[in-house]
Amino acid sequence: MSKLIQKISEMNECQKVSKKLQSYLDSELTPELAVRVSKHLDLCLKCGMKYESYSRIKKALATAAIAESDSNERQLAVERLRRFAINISLPEKE
Ligand SMILES: [Zn+2]
Repeated sequence: MSKLIQKISEMNECQKVSKKLQSYLDSELTPELAVRVSKHLDLCLKCGMKYESYSRIKKALATAAIAESDSNERQLAVERLRRFAINISLPEKE
């Protein structure tokens, strides 16, 4: 495989993996896909960092949900975090 083709296929893998990250965190992927994502996260610093931010958001959301969920302020905080999660999941322009 030429270096260029290899680079392009790595970029495709990044896009695929970043689309799957949320499902990966929620353990919604098939075992095969989960392995593929976790292997890529080991190899790719960029996706690894994305995964880190996702898991932090997920933890924050879980904490916010456990705490008084009837409080308006909490719901707003959760909503803000959700929007942030949606923002960073948009494909990057490269
Ligand atoms: Zn990647």
